[in-house]
Amino acid sequence: MIFLNGHFMPIEKACISVLDRGFIFGDGVYEVIPVYSHKPFRLMEHLHRLQHSLDGIRLKNPYTNKEWHDLLEQIIAKNKGEDQSVYLHITRGVAKRDHAFPDTPPTVFIMSNPLLPPPQEWLTNGVAAITASDNRWIRCDIKSISLLPNVLLRQIAVDAGAIETILIRDGFLTEGSASNIFVVRDQVLLTPPKSHLMLPGITYDVTLELAAASNTIHEVREITENELFSAEEVMLTSSTREIMAITRLNDQSVGNGKPGPKFRQLHQLYQQYKATHMRA
Ligand code: PLP
Repeated sequence: MIFLNGHFMPIEKACISVLDRGFIFGDGVYEVIPVYSHKPFRLMEHLHRLQHSLDGIRLKNPYTNKEWHDLLEQIIAKNKGEDQSVYLHITRGVAKRDHAFPDTPPTVFIMSNPLLPPPQEWLTNGVAAITASDNRWIRCDIKSISLLPNVLLRQIAVDAGAIETILIRDGFLTEGSASNIFVVRDQVLLTPPKSHLMLPGITYDVTLELAAASNTIHEVREITENELFSAEEVMLTSSTREIMAITRLNDQSVGNGKPGPKFRQLHQLYQQYKATHMRA
């Protein structure tokens, strides 16, 4: 079951106008919220980021946090599986095609899919990534549904037999096509600071919190392309992929080519943190 503009219905019954501004202009924002044991993970943080995205495109939030919470509870209950991935999407609504904002209600769409754990093989051996120039706009902090650059950047990874593209802007690491990136150098965990050039990842925050709580030496600072290539470890973080070790970068081994100790530690801490959330 999905939710569309105030109603729950089977996805086959859901229809929107071809004049929806999401369809015509990519004029909207979205969130992806992982659900473990029927409970949305870090919901307040996701709703806070949603508000930031809506503010960024000057679209009024159609619901209060309490209303979002109730809607999500309903969508989770109406869909199968303890672990789900909830996708919510708001566009500027349906109007005659014109760039300027219309005076119409937004379109609100929520769906939920089973959240599958990453393949064991990826956790054991790590995954491959490639690098590419970050050619997106400079409001990457907005979780915009206009994802064409991300789609094209991700596809070049898939074409190369890799699972993620790590983006470089002006010689510095920004993030992945759909993830944030951490590296380890001289045993220090490093990640770039939040800015308009990357999405403020919820998993990024959790990873930094876990590093702080476990006294893992870490630093949030700019990382050069050269530092990325000579890192001991490289990791990606995202809500659906959690924390993954990148063990091949542009067809070269990262470190000794195996998931490293910092990855193993953070991955374990993340699983423990999730378990605490499920029990809460
Ligand atoms: N950066 C981009 C461009 C993303 O699309 C995503 C998630 O899809 C992330 C980072 C990771 O964010 P989160 O940890 O909130 O899933």
